[in-house]
Amino acid sequence: MNPAFTIAKPESARVPLVLDSPHSGTDYPEDFRPAVSREVLRAAEDSYVDELYEAAPSFGATLIAARFPRSYIDPNRSLLDIDASLLDAPWPGPAIPSRKTQLGCGLIWRALDSGQPLYARKLSIDEVKQRIVRYHQPYQRAVKDALDEAYDHFGAVWHINCHSMQAVSDAFSEEGPGKPRADFVLGDRDGTTCEPAFTAFVADTLKAMGYSVKINDPYKGVELVRAFSDPAAGRHSLQVEVNRRLYMEERTREKNAGFAKLKRDIATLVNKVAAYAAQRSHECAHEHGHHHHHDHDHDHGHPGHDHSHHDHKH
Ligand SMILES: [Zn+2]
Repeated sequence: MNPAFTIAKPESARVPLVLDSPHSGTDYPEDFRPAVSREVLRAAEDSYVDELYEAAPSFGATLIAARFPRSYIDPNRSLLDIDASLLDAPWPGPAIPSRKTQLGCGLIWRALDSGQPLYARKLSIDEVKQRIVRYHQPYQRAVKDALDEAYDHFGAVWHINCHSMQAVSDAFSEEGPGKPRADFVLGDRDGTTCEPAFTAFVADTLKAMGYSVKINDPYKGVELVRAFSDPAAGRHSLQVEVNRRLYMEERTREKNAGFAKLKRDIATLVNKVAAYAAQRSHECAHEHGHHHHHDHDHDHGHPGHDHSHHDHKH
């Protein structure tokens, strides 16, 4: 098994939908050597998010989850987002630190959201490179490959990048301390990573189940929704943050009484998004006047179209 990720493939008729959970990993590598306890580090985990979405393959989607923790290396950051202050030598490649590095949570984290430093030492160039090669790159490649495979097959793909957030913001959070958060926050980087109708569809589906939803406030989405999206070409990525108070006790990190209901509601959401993606990929193929290979063998009812390619299996 790859140490960087798990992948669950579609278990029913395949749809152009890929989900990934980059921050729910709990396998702490031996060479991490942080200055804080495991209990404290766990505050950075998006605990149980992979489990909340585990029904996705039953609706024909692919679900990828990181096995390593984001506090070790963050797969939702660009390789350029290097914090030079952590290193014992100059970084040999290009480095363009973002606002996340300023906040202490770039590619390699300097501090937790509380402001607590992660290390009492400098990191070597080699150990950071190892984290990139063994964990960051394999994870991002797994997501990219799944998206490309669906895109090649259907001519369009929808991607949900799954996260959780603290109920109330912390000292070094994006929006400053002490701000309570909505039940869900959707991020499409101000409308640049997916078609607006997709963001609206997910928001409306959640609101219809009684949840409060905010869009791009305070989380707009980071690297994993940016890197592989191209809405004009039919590649749509959306970040979904769920409020941890809905499913766990943040202090003990135990699941709370809301977990089962939230998991059911997320399964309902994914089921509806799977149907949306299947439907939209058909519309896009027709709009663009070309046909992609589909696993299902129904007839579109368009006279004169050759549907023989529908028998084609990959
Ligand atoms: Zn996250």
